[in-house]
Amino acid sequence: MIETKNKQSMFDTVIKQFDQTADLIGLNPNIRKILRITNNEIIVHFPVKMDNGEVEIFTGYRVQHNNALGPYKGGLRYHPTVDVDAAKALAMWMTWKTSLAGLPYGGAKGGIKIDPRNYSLSELERITRRFTYALGENIGPEHDIPAPDVNTNAQTMAWIADTYMSTKSTSERSQSQHVVTGKPIGSGGLEGRDRATGYGVFLNIKLLCNQRGRNLRNQKFIVQGFGNVGYWASKFLIEEGATLIAVQDAHATLFNPQGISVEDLFEHSKPRNGSIAGFTAAEEIPADEFFGLDCDILIPAALGNQITEENAFQVRASIVAEGANGPTNAEGEQILLDRGITIIPDILCNSGGVIGSYFEWLQNRNGELWQMDEVMEKLEKKITQVFMNVSREVEKREIDWRTAAYIIAVTRIETAYTQRGIFP
Ligand code: NAD
Repeated sequence: MIETKNKQSMFDTVIKQFDQTADLIGLNPNIRKILRITNNEIIVHFPVKMDNGEVEIFTGYRVQHNNALGPYKGGLRYHPTVDVDAAKALAMWMTWKTSLAGLPYGGAKGGIKIDPRNYSLSELERITRRFTYALGENIGPEHDIPAPDVNTNAQTMAWIADTYMSTKSTSERSQSQHVVTGKPIGSGGLEGRDRATGYGVFLNIKLLCNQRGRNLRNQKFIVQGFGNVGYWASKFLIEEGATLIAVQDAHATLFNPQGISVEDLFEHSKPRNGSIAGFTAAEEIPADEFFGLDCDILIPAALGNQITEENAFQVRASIVAEGANGPTNAEGEQILLDRGITIIPDILCNSGGVIGSYFEWLQNRNGELWQMDEVMEKLEKKITQVFMNVSREVEKREIDWRTAAYIIAVTRIETAYTQRGIFP
């Protein structure tokens, strides 16, 4: 397991990225002031009764960065590293991501500072429901719409939706289903939302390889994080012939130069709470050897601040596809760029998730039911469009992919502010 660095630097990273873009495009100084801060930072402390009858107090967060383009949107994470600074950084990234994708959303993020492995399923249900209740009107289907993130899933979203809807009058209840996205199919969820983020990571890699005349069949890749994003991205890449040679999660680092079967590894991890440790069809290697493995594509799909000035010089992949949010800090990024490595930035690479969430939100809002093939087709079209927009900007300005993506995202928000002005 790689120790994550302090969260403050995730916020440093996003601010550096934003300032660099603002300088480059000569962003209106007043709009710069607005976008450098987060609109609301909500912290709630709430009690929950544990299985043994004792009461424990939990701390939950929701940071709403900006809603110039529409309701706040972003995931909820259950992890010991969750705090205001981490949520601020992640909320800002959501604002850029939704703007880049051309969605009618702003950005938010939040979660609870816990290690969910220490709680039973029924305790997690009570924690989630009480957190939802504590957030109250700070979330809402037309105001702030959470989604799954690290250690939260469709079940977590079902509990949130049910709790939120239960606090509404009968007539309002059925209109509130889209208060969260990423719900189970039987509870208003979207066919294909589970794979949307990983599919987007895969598609971005495929599009970039196509541009460079590289066939996925000859590509070796490594993945950090074998959760929702890491699993699905690997599955789609392998289906197109790429070879997964190493996987790292919070418990182990596995290596097999002949290839690792994503399905065998998934089956192995299922009864182990998602842990890949103990998988015998690959060799377990020291965690600090992971980034230096010889491969074509590296997919960080776990936490932030994983590629830094301490290990960026080891990376041997020529493409880094950011499945996670903020996996590369500013210093790490500069080293990668100086070495000619292309980074597909998080706000582009993992945007399939929020695009899928947008489809789910529309489905609920319009009382429709979309089929899997329809969803996947729409996803492909939208992700390809966003990729091409960024690609054109890269060529036009001869800049790296993150800067190009930021320019598009920030310019769209600037236009909205310029047209509307500042109230009053
Ligand atoms: P998840 O909880 O399903 O999986 C997280 C994985 O990361 C697990 O395999 C875990 O063992 C591993 N991990 C945790 N700490 C680690 C460490 N220190 N070193 C190595 N591995 C570690 O989470 P997810 O939904 O797959 O999210 C992963 C990343 O993708 C996060 O950064 C998240 O913000 C981002 N993301 C997720 C979505 C989504 O739709 N789920 C969308 C966009 C971005």
